[in-house]
Amino acid sequence: MSPAAQNSIIYPRMAVIGCGLIGSSVIRAARAAGVVGEVAVADASPEHRQRIAELGYADQVTADPAEAARDADLVVLATPVMAMSGALAQAAPALKPGSTVTDVGSVKSAVAETLRPLVPEGVFLVPGHPIAGTEYSGPEAGFAELFQNRWVILTPLPREDDPYLEAVQQLVDFWRALGANVDRMDEKHHDLVLAVTSHLPHLIAYNIVGTAADLEEVTQTEVMKYSAGGFRDFTRIAASDPTMWRDIFLTNKDAVLEILGRFTEDLQALSRAIRWGEGDKLFDLFTRTRAIRRGIIAAGQESPEANFGRDHRS
Ligand code: NAP
Repeated sequence: MSPAAQNSIIYPRMAVIGCGLIGSSVIRAARAAGVVGEVAVADASPEHRQRIAELGYADQVTADPAEAARDADLVVLATPVMAMSGALAQAAPALKPGSTVTDVGSVKSAVAETLRPLVPEGVFLVPGHPIAGTEYSGPEAGFAELFQNRWVILTPLPREDDPYLEAVQQLVDFWRALGANVDRMDEKHHDLVLAVTSHLPHLIAYNIVGTAADLEEVTQTEVMKYSAGGFRDFTRIAASDPTMWRDIFLTNKDAVLEILGRFTEDLQALSRAIRWGEGDKLFDLFTRTRAIRRGIIAAGQESPEANFGRDHRS
């Protein structure tokens, strides 16, 4: 049985504002699951709008967030994080009472703080973050299977009233229909967890590729020529969208700096161990990290062949 046949429509009209990798994947997955009726898209890029119209997965394509959001039951903000409040401010006057506004941003505290005051009375804001992606961007990069067996973290507002809880449940059902597992989390905790699991690894990738590029002569000859495994994986991650990642580091500043501080201390300790020939220390750490990796595989959280960062981004 196709997934579409198993579900009924949850949101008769969905608007996606910012239709790149994640926005277009939400549309494709929601269409495949049969949980949305009409789909409207607002995107700031004329080239992207033209491409979305050609690809034909939206019923309406516009530059105006308010036009897309009008009469929508679900509005999904899928722009880079720092563009979300501007997009919502434009859409707000058109939002229908009883509708839900969510986002897919990789940072939750700062985003929720800027979005909250913009949501009109009677509209439910339920922030979210799908832990799924690739290093590609744009409306052609999306695919319907992106969220299959991936986590989506929702960070609902601290509200206990029934209409709000129903709106949250509806969004949980929506993401589950798209194949995702859904968790709820406090927004600050989300930002700290993601700083460790995603933001710091990306910063390290950007940094190591930058360092290698600065060694210009080596880069042109040996680094690229002999870049198997490790370094090649770092270059793939360092190819991730510059706007998106600039916004993530600027809006998740506190959590990233806290984790970076601890990481730097641990790196100093490693550096000392190497300098003083403390082989036992190195061996103990590498043994512990190998056990962690094997534990992850044993728990079925990642296949052994998956590359660093792949399908588990931002
Ligand atoms: P993307 O492929 O670059 O798509 C973003 C789209 O939004 C682009 O078409 C962009 O146009 C458009 N846009 C920018 N500002 C806008 C505005 N003010 N109004 C309307 N449209 C606007 O980005 P993405 O990878 O889908 O990421 C979108 C969001 O998902 C980000 O907040 C990111 O943190 C989050 N996320 C990403 C991943 C990932 O792996 N990529 C994973 C989970 C969550 P231009 O290109 O012309 O700017």
